[in-house]
Amino acid sequence: MTDAAMPEPLLRVESLTKSFGGFVALDNISVDIRKGERFGLIGPNGSGKTTLVNCISGALRPSRGRVSLAGEDLTPLPPNQRARRGIARSFQIPRPFRSMTVLENLMVALDFAAGRGVLESAAHRRDAAMSILTRIGLAPKAGALATALTQVDLRKMELARALAMGPKLLISDEAMAGLSHSEVDEVLDLLMSLGGEDIAIIMIEHIMQAVMRFSERVMCLDAGRIIAIGAPAEVMANARVQEAYLGV
Ligand code: ADP
Ligand code: MG
Repeated sequence: MTDAAMPEPLLRVESLTKSFGGFVALDNISVDIRKGERFGLIGPNGSGKTTLVNCISGALRPSRGRVSLAGEDLTPLPPNQRARRGIARSFQIPRPFRSMTVLENLMVALDFAAGRGVLESAAHRRDAAMSILTRIGLAPKAGALATALTQVDLRKMELARALAMGPKLLISDEAMAGLSHSEVDEVLDLLMSLGGEDIAIIMIEHIMQAVMRFSERVMCLDAGRIIAIGAPAEVMANARVQEAYLGV
């Protein structure tokens, strides 16, 4: 394909630099992510992974550079406006409204999304909430209080709340911590099915098998720089990655 025929990327990060005082946490990062892509982000502790996704979600403003979504420059926009344009963040620690049921939690998320004028009536929102819970496999727990959910079901509810925003890009920053192997696989299967629905996902994860299984491409950061990007097996085999990340 010629450059002119290349489809526009969903997310474009251009020459992004983030400093905290004199410390450069991200140094001139450029990367494109396509629609529906499953993208793994790895690197040792302190390499800049969370800082990068914070600059993408808007939680942090970059010192230099630019973030755009489907051609629109997001750099000046605060997190809530980026969320409305389709960037959803799945939090490390699920923060549901504990005194509400699973369905009510979803309805609250849909209320927020309705600010875009997508959904009007309460009945419509209820149906939309149930349909998301069905997709995520949580429909049988719709009436349960959030406090009664297991860890894995809380992660699924968090994912359902993110889906309520109708995201184009979902960011998952170490969302699997504390889950068993089979639970990790369960959440991965769910995440992987979203790629088929054209939702791109950036996944930060310590569990290397999970990253390998999930990702179409992996990018490895070290000290705020990209040291490798490409197919998972290639990146894992890269000598710099093994040195920096695996301590080999
Ligand atoms: P990772 O997610 O890869 O573990 P982070 O992006 O959290 O790494 O951190 C990258 C570097 O930036 C670390 O050295 C961290 O201490 C530093 N850092 C992150 N946030 C801040 C902040 N708000 N103020 C100062 N330094 C920070
Ligand atoms: Mg981090």
